[in-house]
Amino acid sequence: MKIVCVGRNYASHIEELNNERPIDPVLFLKPETSIIQKNQPFFIPHFSSEIDYEVEVLVRINRIGKHIQTEFAYKYYDEISLGIDFTARKIQNYLKYKRLPWEKSKSFDGSSLIGDWFSKKDFRDINALNFTLKINNDVVQSGNTSKMLWQIDELINHISQYFTLKIGDIIFTGTPAGVGPVSENDILVGHLEDQKAFSVKIK
Ligand code: ZN
Repeated sequence: MKIVCVGRNYASHIEELNNERPIDPVLFLKPETSIIQKNQPFFIPHFSSEIDYEVEVLVRINRIGKHIQTEFAYKYYDEISLGIDFTARKIQNYLKYKRLPWEKSKSFDGSSLIGDWFSKKDFRDINALNFTLKINNDVVQSGNTSKMLWQIDELINHISQYFTLKIGDIIFTGTPAGVGPVSENDILVGHLEDQKAFSVKIK
């Protein structure tokens, strides 16, 4: 399986990092080895002490597809979740500055946290879904999927022009404003509407 991540999908986050608004969705991949095993902590890697959290809505693909039309994209997923795209920000800034690929900063072991899956039917409208990230009980990020530049079905259309989507593939749909660094012993808790999707400790 693969993880396809979308960068710069919320105007508020583009502004906070002084990035340019993209013409098309920004995509990058994370390998399976980036996934944190169930109930394991996030370990700050030895190569970077500056790690940012990015909370994102996740979509799990349930059938194979290529060149999926936006109007049929809803048939390609039943479950959604919430996760964290852990980012070695200092390394990413260096790679951006050097115009190099981002993988070292985005796709390292442990960089993908995946929460519990929920049926999309549990939610009234997945295109107007509230989600939050709390650190040690303070809300640090809160978003709503209606603020995405490209909605889930449009992302599936765009991604599948380049990458065949297969059963079990996961899409990270981008982060809203409020990203920031983690510290040892922080507890990060994510909620999709009022459902708790994950809790992870930083070590
Ligand atoms: Zn991200």
